[in-house]
Formats: sequence, C-alpha cells, structure tokens
Amino acid sequence: MLFDHSKLSRSAIDFIEEANVDALLENPMKHDPVRFQEVLAKSRAKEPLTPVESMVLIVGSETESEAIFETARQLKRDVYGNRIVIFAPLYVGNYCQNDCKYCAFRRSNKEEVRHTLSDAELEAEVRAMLRQGQKRTIVVFGESPKYDGRFIADCVRKIYAIREGKGNMRRCNVNAAPMDFENYKTILEAGIGTYQIFQETYHKPTYAKMHPAGTEKGDFLWRLDGLSRAYEAGANDVGIGALFGLYDWRYEVLGLVAHSHHLMKHYGCGPHTISFPRIQPAAGTDLSWAYTFSDEVFKRLVAILRLSVPYTGLICTARESPAVRREVMDFGVSQIDAGGRIEIGGYSQLGDVQVSEKEQFELGDLRPLDVIVRELLKDGFIPSFCTACYRKGRTGQQFMEYAIPGFINRLCTPNALSTLDEYLTDYASEETRNVGRRVIRENLEQMADGDRKTELISRLERIETTDERDLYF
Ligand code: SAM
Ligand code: SF4
Repeated sequence: MLFDHSKLSRSAIDFIEEANVDALLENPMKHDPVRFQEVLAKSRAKEPLTPVESMVLIVGSETESEAIFETARQLKRDVYGNRIVIFAPLYVGNYCQNDCKYCAFRRSNKEEVRHTLSDAELEAEVRAMLRQGQKRTIVVFGESPKYDGRFIADCVRKIYAIREGKGNMRRCNVNAAPMDFENYKTILEAGIGTYQIFQETYHKPTYAKMHPAGTEKGDFLWRLDGLSRAYEAGANDVGIGALFGLYDWRYEVLGLVAHSHHLMKHYGCGPHTISFPRIQPAAGTDLSWAYTFSDEVFKRLVAILRLSVPYTGLICTARESPAVRREVMDFGVSQIDAGGRIEIGGYSQLGDVQVSEKEQFELGDLRPLDVIVRELLKDGFIPSFCTACYRKGRTGQQFMEYAIPGFINRLCTPNALSTLDEYLTDYASEETRNVGRRVIRENLEQMADGDRKTELISRLERIETTDERDLYF
C-alpha cells in the first residue's frame, strides 16, 4: 500500500460492497412492470433512487425505454430548465507515475511527449481560451509528485488573475489525483469550483487489472474515498465519474448511484456532477479488450442516471460525437465542454490539427465553440457561461435546495441569458449572434413582468452597448 490509510476519511468504507452491487448484477431481478412504474413515479417526484431501484430501470423492457427517456426529458426541463452550461478543459501536465491500461499518459507509454506548461505557456493557453469566449475551465493533470496541492493551487491562482480583452476565467474546476487532507486544503484556498475524480471502474477485480498494484492508482479504497476526504477538507462541490468501457456499463451506473448515496449520507450532499466518459482510442494504447457498447445503450444509461440522481448535473464530454451529444442533451445532460483542446499547449500552439502524441485520447467532437453554441440555440437550449452560484456561495447542499423550479426562473435563466449575451456581443460570429439574440428575445417574452425582468433588460442593454461585464444575480 503506497498510501497511509490512517489518512482516509471518517466515512471510508467500500460502499460498493455495502450496496451489494455484485449480487445485484449476478442475480438480476425479474422485470416487474408494476415496480417499474413505482420507480418512475419516484423519479418524477425528484427523489433520488437507490441502486436497487436503478436496477429496476436497467432491467426494464425495450418498450419501457421510451418512458425512461420521456421522464428524463421532463426532469431535465424541470430541474435545469433549457440551459446547457459550457466549459473547456485545460491540460496542464501529462507526467504520470501510474500505468492505467487505457490512458496514453501512463508511464510505460514511450510514444507520449511529456510536458508541463511553463507559466508563460499557461498564460498563453488561458488567453487563447478567453479569446474564444470561454469563462469556465477544468484544469487536468497526470498523477505525479510535480502536481501536488501547492502546484495546482498556484496554477488556479494564475488562471484567475489573467484578463484578456473583456474576459477572464470565472470558474476553475480541477481534475487531478485523489489528495490527502492537507493538499486538498491548499487547493481549496485557491478558490476552485468542483474537485473531480473519476473512479474509472467501481468493479474491484477490473480496477485491479487496469491499475497495477504498486502504483498510486492501484489503491482502490484510497481513490474511492478521495472525494470524501475532499468534503472533510472543506470542499462544497465534488464531481464523480466512471470510465465506461472498462467493465459492464450496468455495474458502473450502480456504482455511481451508490457513490452518490454514500456522499449524501455522510456529508449531507451528493456530488455536484456526474461524468460518464466512454473509452476512446489513445496513442500507443491497445484497447481491443474494451467493453464497447452501442450508442442506443449509451443514451439509455444517461437517461437512467438522470432518473436516479435528479439534482446532480450530468456532463457529456467531447469524447462523444456531435450526433450522440446532440441526442443525449435532451435526456438530462446539463453541462458540456465545447471548443476544447486536450493536448498540452493545444489552444495556443497547435492550430486546428489534433496531435495524438500530445493528448490523452482522441476527441469525437472537435467543432469550434461558436458552432456548438449555434447548434444549441437552434435546438432550443440556452448555452450558459454562468458562474454565479459558486461565487454567491450557492454550492453544495444549498445548491440542491435551490434547484427547484422557482430558482431557475428567478436566477438561472436571467444569469444564463446575460452570460450568453456577453458571448454573443464579444465573441460570436454574426450568424450565431443573430440566432442568439432571437433566442434571448423569445426567452424574455416568456418571463413574467417584474423587477427581475426589468433589471435583466437593463443589464442586457449595458452588455451590448458598454464594457460592463460579469453581472449576475
Ligand atoms: N490523472 C488523474 C486521474 O487519473 O485521476 C487525472 C485524470 S485523467 C488526466 C482524466 C480522465 O480521463 C481519467 O480519469 C479517465 O477517466 C479519462 N481517460 C483516460 N484514458 C481515457 C481514454 N482512453 N478514453 C477516454 N477517457 C480516458
Ligand atoms: Fe495517469 Fe490519470 Fe492517465 Fe491514469 S488516467 S495514466 S493516472 S493521467
């Protein structure tokens, strides 16, 4: 064991064992239409499902899939409205001491070009992102002693300090290795948004196959407990995820649901987001063993997650193709990355080509931010760059309490519209600007008259005619 287990959180247990996920999968329950309807009703009432209840949806019949999709659509509209939050990843360094079988950054991959952004390179990357119109990022690191709490905190502070034109990065999330209590504290002091760790697989034997013993990541419990320690160090927002394709997708869905319950039970607050990346080709990496599955199954798993954790944001990354992303947007996705680059230095140094030796895996959606924003607008969504909640302290449990219909109308939609208008005014192509302004007008028409609407209209005018920016409720 490379980690000192006396430094685990107070809630450290293998909750996958506790939730009996193995037994659920080995002896799947018989399909029961009455029970299926009961579980659906619980989802409609926006109550989180237990792993057993999620399993009822998983074993639902083909004809019941439509009911799952319809309920997912409804929940998404009720809880998140028609907003889709936009962000972009920022890869800072790909040195890694682990040897994860699926990842191009693994230490045994000699084809990978290793680099950590210098201060000047980091600044150039952030400036290039800001020139696109990005406002929210997630910084990503390999696992290496180079990338300790202090290093990550420094990066985050540097990123927040950069201004380019009228823009700055307003929310910086982190995806890095599980830390100990002290390192989390150091990172949290820099004012991060969400700390995100993917468990990769919740299935222990597969976890052991993917992450060799003797590497840091080989310690299953240290990772499983990673976000519990983050909560105990003072984090408000954490993000969980599984890498689909390492094992049976149903196991990972139940694992994610069990993880949400565990965090809710011990810390009074589930995860802020769930990610469900599917494994992608990666340079120098044999993935012929992967558990691939169809796009139809992928859509179903997204909808089942939506039904299982009604108040948790769902992130669909650019690993997926534009067509798949467009479809799952409807069944509960609330955040996507757009216009992102995942090579180290990809935004400022590489132009339009993907350079596989510098990246962790291949992306499926390489469209520019402007094109994605325009498609979302045409599909009836409001692309949002809003960062108001965490800056107003509306995070964690508080956010969950607020994520009720009135909250969306009063705060989220106005904030989404004003950040969208900033994007349209400062960065969009003329075509996107025209579509966007029409969508803003339509949304304003649907908004009840009152002080909030009057103030929003005044703010939109100021955004369009002056340099005033970053106005939020
Ligand atoms: N090194 C840290 C860690 O492992 O937690 C940071 C995360 S890593 C840079 C980001 C995520 O990419 C991993 O957690 C993993 O789920 C995902 N990933 C790795 N290889 C992948 C592949 N071939 N296809 C898709 N996603 C992959
Ligand atoms: Fe390293 Fe993370 Fe890749 Fe594993 S997934 S090899 S820990 S960067």
